[in-house]
Amino acid sequence: MHLLGHFKTITHHKLLVMGYCFRVGLIRQGLMHDMSKYSLTELRVGAKYYTGTKSPNALEREELGYSTAWLHHKGRNRHHLEYWIDYGGRDFHIMGHPMPTKYMVELCLDRIAACRVYHGKNYTDRDPLDYLVNSRDSRMMHPVTKAQVVEILTMLAEKGEKETLRYIRRVVLKHAVALYPSLPEPEGDPAEKDPCFLSGNQLKELADELGTPFYLYDEKGIVETSERLKDAFSWANGYRNFFPVKATPTAGILKLLREHGHGVVCSSAAELELCRRCGFKGDEILFLPNYPREEDLAMAEQVPCMPVLDDLGLLSRFLNHGLLRGTVGIRVKPDGMFRFGLTEVSPDSMKFGVTASALKAAIPKLKEAGIRSMGLHSYMAGNTMSPEYYPRLTAFLCDLALELSRDIQIDYINISGGIGIAYRPGQQQMDLAAAASAVKAVFQEKLTGSTLVNPGLYTELGRFVTGPHGVLVTRVTHIKEEKRTFAGVDASSADLMRPMMYGAYHHISVAGKECVKDRKPYDVVGAVCENTDKLAENRMLPALEAGDVLAIHDAGAHGHSMGYQYGGRLRSGEYLLHPNGEVQQLRRPETIEDYLSTQVF
Ligand SMILES: *Cc1c(COP(=O)(O)O)cnc(C)c1O
Repeated sequence: MHLLGHFKTITHHKLLVMGYCFRVGLIRQGLMHDMSKYSLTELRVGAKYYTGTKSPNALEREELGYSTAWLHHKGRNRHHLEYWIDYGGRDFHIMGHPMPTKYMVELCLDRIAACRVYHGKNYTDRDPLDYLVNSRDSRMMHPVTKAQVVEILTMLAEKGEKETLRYIRRVVLKHAVALYPSLPEPEGDPAEKDPCFLSGNQLKELADELGTPFYLYDEKGIVETSERLKDAFSWANGYRNFFPVKATPTAGILKLLREHGHGVVCSSAAELELCRRCGFKGDEILFLPNYPREEDLAMAEQVPCMPVLDDLGLLSRFLNHGLLRGTVGIRVKPDGMFRFGLTEVSPDSMKFGVTASALKAAIPKLKEAGIRSMGLHSYMAGNTMSPEYYPRLTAFLCDLALELSRDIQIDYINISGGIGIAYRPGQQQMDLAAAASAVKAVFQEKLTGSTLVNPGLYTELGRFVTGPHGVLVTRVTHIKEEKRTFAGVDASSADLMRPMMYGAYHHISVAGKECVKDRKPYDVVGAVCENTDKLAENRMLPALEAGDVLAIHDAGAHGHSMGYQYGGRLRSGEYLLHPNGEVQQLRRPETIEDYLSTQVF
């Protein structure tokens, strides 16, 4: 028996973790950390198998096949991911559930302390991250918890302990929205992303029949994603996704979305009128203009909708138009700095939203204006793949809602959109079900037993719903071989602006040459007189020739809608592929007469 040696080891570890816990403000957890190690069950095993260099639990496990001390320990210490393993999910399998933030933080601190003890003077700030990446137990960790742990340990590796502890104390535990990038994803094989919802032959036939370029949407994909979304949030009270009209303002798509339970978010008079004609009304429309013109507000008088204020200064203008009937949504942003990836963003530079503190101060004024209840909105990131984005934002909004609910009724929380899609080969689609279950955990953690009973939950996902289910189909017009090879196509940045505007990646496949391994680099370029008019640069594609039909993927959102007529390019038509194979025109291609129709000669 080596009771004394074992006692010293566990106490050394406990004091280290306690020090870290105190530094981030987790006093109670610091005091209670690993207390069960001093219980008879665990002490006995620790003393019996003590060597000083190896874990006693591991040695007991070697002898018995399992460790009685560990089974005792993991059931009593919430900073272990094993504490959070239980049955769950749709098929009721054993799985890791999301850990509340304070225990996730304690887990990180526990690992840092353990690495420090094991590695002694060879310890570096990178060790805890390496340990996590190489360890098997983290496979059982809930994806959102894992993303949060990776975020903290990546920061430790890159910025050191002092800054990481400060970040945990000031940002992570305060639930400010912070997005540190997840582990970099490996670049995938482009051939693997080639297949699209129509075969190469079908695409070629359609291109011959309709004339290129055109947008084609896949009804089956849009419906499946809609169902998946509803399923993920089925636990939430009055859940609804409000599709941002700017993503795909096409009547045929909006009507399809309405049939599958989506509402819409409109920001202008034109979008309101479009949605009214698609049959949306009342609580199916969120009206969230920023810096609105009078015409926008006047249209909202005609189209029943749920108004949302982007600034408290808009209150009187909304009142003048009779838009506020006792309830209103407010778009909020945090008071302090928050992060997008590695860059810190100051709320001062953000044109959207009201700071949380300004909103708190304005409650009496809102009540005076007859507001009896409100919904809270926030939209912090676009196209994010961080699974912790939604839970973090939910925590921020729940904290604020709880505080406000002492003075005013809170009807709903709207965590908005901005979830990204896998544009690149090999990129992982974000696990929406996991993010939604983490949002649920935050709701339970924050609201159970509170005065705020079951507020509604809304999202505003656009790209996630239609993005992957649309392609821009175009034809190669001319190949120019120089040091680089340019493949000219009949679509351009006027049809799809994202590559030119943000250097965005859109995958390109060649009809009939999908999955071909032998490739060479091309610049795929349009006919607009700008050298930046490139849909792809240095893209590895199968050998191209004039006449080839290309599908430009993931163009179902923020694609056609961002089109313009620069250089006399006319906007292309849009079509919907029904599950039975029929193709329906949703919008005809523009003609030269359309181009001229607004001009005065
Ligand atoms: C653009 C926008 C979104 C999000 O759009 P995604 O397509 O999900 O990126 C959500 N809400 C509002 C009000 C928006 O303007």
